[in-house]
Amino acid sequence: MDRAAVNPLVVLGATGSIGMQTLEVADRLDIPIVALGARRGSDDLLAIAHAHPEAMIAVSAPTGAEQERFAAELGKRVRFGLDGLSELAATAGTTVVNGVVGAAGLSASVAALSAGNRLALANKESLVAGGPVLQAAREQGGGELLPVDSEHSALLQCLAGEEITAVRRLILTASGGPFRGRDAGSLADVTVDEALAHPTWAMGPRITIDSATLMNKAFEVIEAHYLFGLSYDDIEVVVHPQSIVHSLVEFVDGSLKAHLGEPDMRVPIQYAITYPHRAPGPLSPFALSDLALTFEPPDRAAFPLLDLGYQAGRRGESAPAVLNAADEIAVQAFLDGRIGFSAIPKVVAGTLERVDLRKLTEVADVVAVDAEARSVASELAGMC
Ligand code: MG
Repeated sequence: MDRAAVNPLVVLGATGSIGMQTLEVADRLDIPIVALGARRGSDDLLAIAHAHPEAMIAVSAPTGAEQERFAAELGKRVRFGLDGLSELAATAGTTVVNGVVGAAGLSASVAALSAGNRLALANKESLVAGGPVLQAAREQGGGELLPVDSEHSALLQCLAGEEITAVRRLILTASGGPFRGRDAGSLADVTVDEALAHPTWAMGPRITIDSATLMNKAFEVIEAHYLFGLSYDDIEVVVHPQSIVHSLVEFVDGSLKAHLGEPDMRVPIQYAITYPHRAPGPLSPFALSDLALTFEPPDRAAFPLLDLGYQAGRRGESAPAVLNAADEIAVQAFLDGRIGFSAIPKVVAGTLERVDLRKLTEVADVVAVDAEARSVASELAGMC
């Protein structure tokens, strides 16, 4: 790989899991970091800022004490507030790795694409909730939208060199989560700890619960629709408990291409940065011997959020934003012990019924829908 072909990086959500792994990839491949952003002015961010003295720094939601400390210790301008992340994301000629958690990542994603940058997107909410807004920003600004999510990176790699018109279907793999094989009736009284025990990926609490309900897979179906432009009829989900095949593409001639590898986020992060090139990675040669790969259909009755996600995706516009906001509220209520596991889809379905569909043209529209859906979902969660 020619290093000159790789853009310098803006890393948003720098202290989180995706951010830290991005810094590791950048360090290994000697790619310059021009800007770093995070939500809080933590010790971790300060340490990263000291390690990259040339980088611009932004803190989106600092306390007063953090502002004073950062200004004093770094001896240079530090941007505070949400606009600071967007300002960094608009730095010309960069690849912006967006690992910000939650809806706060949307404006930075729009800023990156509007500025014509490459956006390496790990912030699922950006695309699920703000799909139409991001699409418009990509078209107007000429930016490039590349996935960091392992399934979508797998699809991108299977699609390399192919014509999109030659695709019959995209097949997203799902681990099935900790409750694979359980029927709907036995899921009512599962505990938070059981739901947090994901079999193959170590992730934050919300995405782990979203994996247990298959909501995460529905979000990924919506992401795939926006990323690759295929209809929902041509995007499928298959359960693959080993998490070795990260997704597949079937072509019109009957050929299938699959992407295999260890479940390790450094691989898709690096591919989004070096795309369309490849660079050496940190993993040892893959051991194929004795490997047993199995596939089964998802249990749509036990995990109704998968089909609710498809329905919201097909309705389009604001429906996926409502889905995302309602799910976040429902998952938090479950984690807090306020509702049971089986109530999560009920809160989400009820919220989708009650919030009217509207057109999304700018970030403010997404923020408004998000707020309305949260309030309806909180009310419904309180009634469970
Ligand atoms: Mg994924």
